[in-house]
Amino acid sequence: MTKQLVSLKVKCPLCQQSLMDYTHFLNAKPSIKLTIEGGGKHGVINLCSTYGCYEKTSNIELVQDDIVKLFCPHCKKELTTKAECDVCKAPIVSFALDKGGKVHVCSRIGCKKHAVSFEDIYTTLTTFYEEDLYGARDTDF
Ligand SMILES: [Zn+2]
Ligand SMILES: [Zn+2]
Repeated sequence: MTKQLVSLKVKCPLCQQSLMDYTHFLNAKPSIKLTIEGGGKHGVINLCSTYGCYEKTSNIELVQDDIVKLFCPHCKKELTTKAECDVCKAPIVSFALDKGGKVHVCSRIGCKKHAVSFEDIYTTLTTFYEEDLYGARDTDF
């Protein structure tokens, strides 16, 4: 199976508005734009939407190992869950996937915890296989 670059399209789990920023690309893909609060500062953060990529840019300083709060830029609500990271115990932030399911990321800067859960894992896997058969290396979903 060829290694695929999976680009995630996410939306706010609370107001259902898209979190994709089509004006700010990271790794040739639209990024995920959120409002961030860290170290007493408020700003904007853009996360790479490629699954497994941890690149991000922000207009505030991101301090390694700091726990940040992420907010939806539309409804301004905090995107947090009751779950905690099994690696570092920081709160887990989750986004809704456009096609169902959720992406979970750790709120600690530098932590590599990153998980995707699908509501319908079978359909998603089938889609992956089909994409693979047709040689698509770049999957949007
Ligand atoms: Zn929202
Ligand atoms: Zn963590």
